[in-house]
Amino acid sequence: MTIQMPQTVKRVYRFDEGNASMADLLGGKGSNLCEMARLGLPVPPGFVISTQACREYLAKNHTLPDGLEESVRENMRALEKSIGRNFGSISDPMLVSVRSGARVSMPGMMDTILNLGINDQIVQGLATMMGDARPAYDAYRRFIQIYSEVVMDVAGEAFESVLTEHKRKAGVTQDHQLTAGQLQSLVADFKMVAKEAAGSEPPSDPWEQLTAAVEAVFRSWNTPRAIFYRDLNKIDHDMGTAVTIMAMVFGNLGPTSGTGVLFTRNPSTGEAQVYGEFLTNAQGEDVVAGVRTPEPIASLRDVLPDCYDELMELANNLETHYSDVQDVEFTIENARLFLLQTRTAKRTALSAVKTAVDMANEGLITQSQALLRVDAEEISRLLVPQFSDNLSEEDLAGRFLARGAPASPGAAAGAVCFDATKAAELAAAGESVILVRPETKPDDIHGITAAVGVVTSRGGVTSHAAVVTRGLGKPCIVGCEGIQVDLEAGLFTADGKTVHEGELISMDGASGSVYLGELDTVNPSLNDLPEAEELLRWADQTRRLGVMANADTPADAAQSLIMGAEGIGLCRTEHMFLDLERLPVVRQMLLNAEPAETWRRANNDRVFRVENEEQADQSVKDFYQALDQVKELQIDDFEAILRVMGARPVIIRLLDAPLHEFLPSHETLITELMELRHVSAPLADLEEKESFLLLVESLHESNPMLGHRGCRFGLSFPAIYRMQVEAIITAGAKLVKEGLDVNPEIMIPLTVDVEEMHRLRQDLSLVASQIQERLGVKVHYKFGTMIETPRAALTAGEIAKESEFFSFGTNDLTQMTFGFSRDDAEGKFLRFYIDEGILPNDPFASIDPHGVGLLIKMGVEAGRREKPNLEIGICGEHGGDPASVVFCHEVGLDYVSCSPYRVPVARLAAAQAALAGS
Ligand code: ADP
Ligand code: MG
Ligand code: MG
Repeated sequence: MTIQMPQTVKRVYRFDEGNASMADLLGGKGSNLCEMARLGLPVPPGFVISTQACREYLAKNHTLPDGLEESVRENMRALEKSIGRNFGSISDPMLVSVRSGARVSMPGMMDTILNLGINDQIVQGLATMMGDARPAYDAYRRFIQIYSEVVMDVAGEAFESVLTEHKRKAGVTQDHQLTAGQLQSLVADFKMVAKEAAGSEPPSDPWEQLTAAVEAVFRSWNTPRAIFYRDLNKIDHDMGTAVTIMAMVFGNLGPTSGTGVLFTRNPSTGEAQVYGEFLTNAQGEDVVAGVRTPEPIASLRDVLPDCYDELMELANNLETHYSDVQDVEFTIENARLFLLQTRTAKRTALSAVKTAVDMANEGLITQSQALLRVDAEEISRLLVPQFSDNLSEEDLAGRFLARGAPASPGAAAGAVCFDATKAAELAAAGESVILVRPETKPDDIHGITAAVGVVTSRGGVTSHAAVVTRGLGKPCIVGCEGIQVDLEAGLFTADGKTVHEGELISMDGASGSVYLGELDTVNPSLNDLPEAEELLRWADQTRRLGVMANADTPADAAQSLIMGAEGIGLCRTEHMFLDLERLPVVRQMLLNAEPAETWRRANNDRVFRVENEEQADQSVKDFYQALDQVKELQIDDFEAILRVMGARPVIIRLLDAPLHEFLPSHETLITELMELRHVSAPLADLEEKESFLLLVESLHESNPMLGHRGCRFGLSFPAIYRMQVEAIITAGAKLVKEGLDVNPEIMIPLTVDVEEMHRLRQDLSLVASQIQERLGVKVHYKFGTMIETPRAALTAGEIAKESEFFSFGTNDLTQMTFGFSRDDAEGKFLRFYIDEGILPNDPFASIDPHGVGLLIKMGVEAGRREKPNLEIGICGEHGGDPASVVFCHEVGLDYVSCSPYRVPVARLAAAQAALAGS
């Protein structure tokens, strides 16, 4: 019998053993390095330790998996062979970098150690090999600092101040101006810093350095900033990071060396031009950390034209190969170019849209690919506020503070804050803050997220701050050197002005300008964004689902047309009642509704209007007078909206809200009454207040949202719905007479039973025909209902008999299906439920597919069984949520309706749903 030996797990992959499809196992950085090596691009040799090894390490209480160290050693030997230098050797040393990199890119959130494999002896060999001691000691001091920080948990500030002190003593301003001797003494001081903080210096044994570095990179998966970033971007916490180990190349050898980052297209605007930065005589982290403001990439053409040309060609090839915008790290060692990383570029919404459309037009990708490439949610970010064009030149000039590099567009105003943690606290307290810093570090992520915008006085457009803000869709200005930050005094100076922490400033991330005070902003229009319009046109050709807008006013209606809505899916009439000028009339109407209704019943009136109104008492007259006034206003409202929308459908919902919403609160009335008594006000005033109070008391409900509202109210006080229908038909008739085609649809809210629909339909269609007859005009209209109670969904087959359309009111349907009052849930326990994983996500933001979704499915099926061409859609905020739009597509709805600003999101999401289903 043979004993089966367990297969040794492969945890380490040479660059030539991997490819771009292996990101799960090798991380994005690792798998793309493999891919570039495979394509024969100039990548220094190396290998990757898998994410699986990291998961094992973290799961086994920070113990390296068996056999991992041996595999690493074997691969190091192969690496030595391939470059002809030796790790740990003094005469021909090989240094390596130990780099983090997960499946999805988390820029700067985990750790990387450069120049590893160095010590007091090796640095001398390195100096000989380099032919210069300065870069060797430069590499050494960088190693001591980063190793101490990452592996030994020493805080970086101590190193920074020692470095500043050394530069001051040497009388220089830049790191690379320090001489070999000065760097050597810096190394000694750095070691002291480490020893003081951690009790020992970094180890001198290269192999010990290597193992400890690998472990530290594994652990950096769980640094607080990495966890925060994953939470923010909904990235799985269990993936782990891969570790890439590769031979170092040196960008700090002198003027023909350097390092940089480039984007194959502009990640901020999408412009189809290489965008990037370069620093001569520097190592990679100098660019991303923003310590020195780099030169624009074009300046490389002057310094090293051959390298520049080669770089441009490689960048172009990489973009074509990946058929997407790439973010590429490179280093030049003695005029020889190396690529160190490539990844899909993080970009702003504007850039995402423009690059997708451009690439489709260039034939690099298909239109469908372009549609799938832009995150539907992101489309709404295109419409971020911008400073108004109406701001006068002088006003701007008087407020101007400084101009930096525009790193992420958008306008923002907020209080100056110099500290990330403080910014997070102020934002949590509801303040708008702009984070102003010399530079930002990955550790500042919580402050960057909380701020409305970020301004840094140093650093370039590829620094961490810039990359992170572009991902977050908030404005960012970097390298704003006109701003002199004095952190200790809590102020900055710019253009001769002093601005203290807490003072308001405004920033324009598109132009890079910073101003004093708060400037007016406007929301841009889709009309100004031709690429977005083009992409959305493709979306319209692709989607099956209709997209309508929720709009209550002619202005909203006009806005929704600009946004591409095909009609109005929900026009609420409450807002028309709530208008301050109208409120007194509305209240007059409500105040007398009860006596008027009693009187109407006594007169056995089944039509819409009492014939012998003159004989009624005053309150009845008052009621009808007010009703007439409201009707005239409603006619104007509907006429204006229908005129804007033309032949497109306009679904008008009859009054829905509980009546108390139109009246002052009980407490207010009591206080007012007491005051009136106190000043011995005239009796008439007192009586009016008292009757108001009585009315409010009579309307009091213990749970108004489940009380006397919607069609229940419509049935018990028919005069009001009749008035609304009269107004709709009258407005429609006016426009038809003008030769316009209109399509109002009358929608009944909150139905629970077909009988409600049956009665209302009978009554209201009688009104509609009478008006049409009287005006001698035929108005095409539909009659339908909202399905927003579970009972309506369950009895939808019956309800369909009396409806020409259904509109799922998913806000109420969610409230009633869960039995959660939305306002209470969101304020009290919903966050907790989601954080604890009791619910996977917020059912008010995204349709709950299993409960609410099931009711919708049943309602659709039953409704269509009864009436195959029943028109069905949803209104409610879910209509603008991409995941819910996909759901609506899948259950076969005819349209979604959402707020005008979400219409572009819904158009794109509907196209993506169609593409996913095809
Ligand atoms: P991050 O994810 O923070 O960008 P990286 O692992 O990409 O971390 O490395 C940080 C910097 O060090 C980058 O600029 C990178 O190009 C540079 N770098 C990494 N490995 C090497 C190497 N072998 N030789 C030279 N520079 C390197
Ligand atoms: Mg990198
Ligand atoms: Mg409702």
